[in-house]
Amino acid sequence: MNSRPYRLLVVVGVAVLLTAVTSAYRPTLVERVLGGSAHYAPTLFVSFAIIAVVAVIVSYYEYHGFGTQEGIVRRGPNAPVVAITYDDGPNPKYTPRILEILQTKEARATFFCTGLHVEKYPEIARRIVAEGHDIGSHTYSHRDLVPATRRVVEDQLRRAEAAIFSVTGVATRLFRPPRGLYSNAVRRIVVDEFGLQMILWTVSALDWRGLTPKQIVRRIARYVRPGAIILFHDSGALLRREGGKRASTVEALPLVIDYLRSAGYEIVPVSEMLDRLTDTEMEPRRALERA
Ligand SMILES: [Zn+2]
Repeated sequence: MNSRPYRLLVVVGVAVLLTAVTSAYRPTLVERVLGGSAHYAPTLFVSFAIIAVVAVIVSYYEYHGFGTQEGIVRRGPNAPVVAITYDDGPNPKYTPRILEILQTKEARATFFCTGLHVEKYPEIARRIVAEGHDIGSHTYSHRDLVPATRRVVEDQLRRAEAAIFSVTGVATRLFRPPRGLYSNAVRRIVVDEFGLQMILWTVSALDWRGLTPKQIVRRIARYVRPGAIILFHDSGALLRREGGKRASTVEALPLVIDYLRSAGYEIVPVSEMLDRLTDTEMEPRRALERA
């Protein structure tokens, strides 16, 4: 079910109601609200102001995932499982080291790759899949999908899917938008048109900000909760597609895995997490997003 018409209906309904109320009690109500200066505050202006405020609140909650937005996942089931996810790779310097640690620790993760990097480093992309990890799309060239035309969004999704499929043979259903940015229009294209699951995150490691491994672990220990999806970066850079320093990300991984396990969490790929979501949990909830 698409919840957008309902939300629009609520906004219009509230606006109409408020207009009616302010008209009926005019000028008393307006006077009370504005402290006696109602003579020059026409009801229409007040109504429009209220409509604007409601619209802003609604779009804020829409962006932050209030209500039902099908196909958007910010966390897994309310159970002791967590998912470790990596964005922007693969990267020849860091991804193989991450894969080695995951193998030693017998943990599986999820890699949201750009099509461009999958084509550039096909061996690493194939290794991700061969070692049992999930591979997901992170657009073709890490293009922000807001703002973007429908053509750009579709092109980014199609080319990323094609690159991942031709290199790894995986027809991925997992997608993460660059910087977590999406609009309702983007959601419809991603979810309804392409049939992808939009996977956001519960806790960001903030590894791109240059935290030390210890700071990363402390941060995760503080914010992790049942069903958390944890965001790391194995590539990327502030203004470029790759080149950022991810040594802390790599060094933090064994500590993060040890911490999570000592706290009783099982580490699973995102696809497995989705399988464990019950029907009621499939309705996305408000996120504790700490990007
Ligand atoms: Zn990214």
